[in-house]
Amino acid sequence: MRLANTLFRPPGDKWFYVVEPTGRYFESSVSIATLERYVVEHMEASGIEIPLDLRLRIEDYMCQRLPPGSCIGGHPSDPSLAPISYFAVMDAFEAVRPRLHPTAVDEREADRRALVCRTCRLNDQSLCGDCTGMQARISAMLGRRVSGMEFMGVCRDLRLPTLAVIFLDPPPPVVTPRAASCWRAPNHG
Ligand code: SF4
Repeated sequence: MRLANTLFRPPGDKWFYVVEPTGRYFESSVSIATLERYVVEHMEASGIEIPLDLRLRIEDYMCQRLPPGSCIGGHPSDPSLAPISYFAVMDAFEAVRPRLHPTAVDEREADRRALVCRTCRLNDQSLCGDCTGMQARISAMLGRRVSGMEFMGVCRDLRLPTLAVIFLDPPPPVVTPRAASCWRAPNHG
């Protein structure tokens, strides 16, 4: 589930999360991004791999504990179906930027991945990455392009700009069963 609104403090006036492997509790009354930063710092210091969908996990954790009406959606086990916003996607992109290695993926491989993404049902173009400038911004930051870049939307499996996913190295495993035909899935040709 997702918080109905991440700009205003939820009931209880704070965002909160427990990092499961260590049991450490974190909270912030400033913003959910501040809380996420605390969590990431703790995970990095503890040698815990930071999940790509950390923001979603935080929201889902909170939603399990907040009063009814605080959240939207009802698919905690399938993040690909949860609502998505431009700002959440760009936040997620910023969080994974250190794990993007555009030079590690050669042009041929990038185009192969892009071809699969373009026809993937999880490549969500409803946020119109082309007209919001998302594609151009990310391409400029990565210093890379792929053919058919204008058809890259948001990968709903990872909830990241699809263009960025292509340059994740190493590529993370798929998250949801709906992404079985992803180029990241085991046994994909
Ligand atoms: S699930 Fe895989 S193929 Fe589909 S958009 Fe995401 S990265 Fe591309």
